[in-house]
Amino acid sequence: MTTTMTTTTTIRVDPIACDAYGYCAELLPELVSLDEWGYPVLDGQPVAPRLLALARRAAKDCPRRAVLIEQSPVPSPGRDGTDGAR
Ligand code: SF4
Repeated sequence: MTTTMTTTTTIRVDPIACDAYGYCAELLPELVSLDEWGYPVLDGQPVAPRLLALARRAAKDCPRRAVLIEQSPVPSPGRDGTDGAR
């Protein structure tokens, strides 16, 4: 059986680079909230396809280039609903 792969996209913030400007939370409130000091808090969940453009914009517009977009391969479900593994 062949296992096919898809990718999942997540965002994270480089805490060293971030200066707590808060633009990312303004652009992507669905995924980013701010703590009491203005630093972003992320839930770590994959970015929904409908939010990908906003996530890329948050990364592009971050003045510190602290928003990082990461893509990871994940096995896609087989036609029978399994992950293709035996
Ligand atoms: S926009 Fe960039 S610098 Fe500002 S809070 Fe978000 S990650 Fe930090």
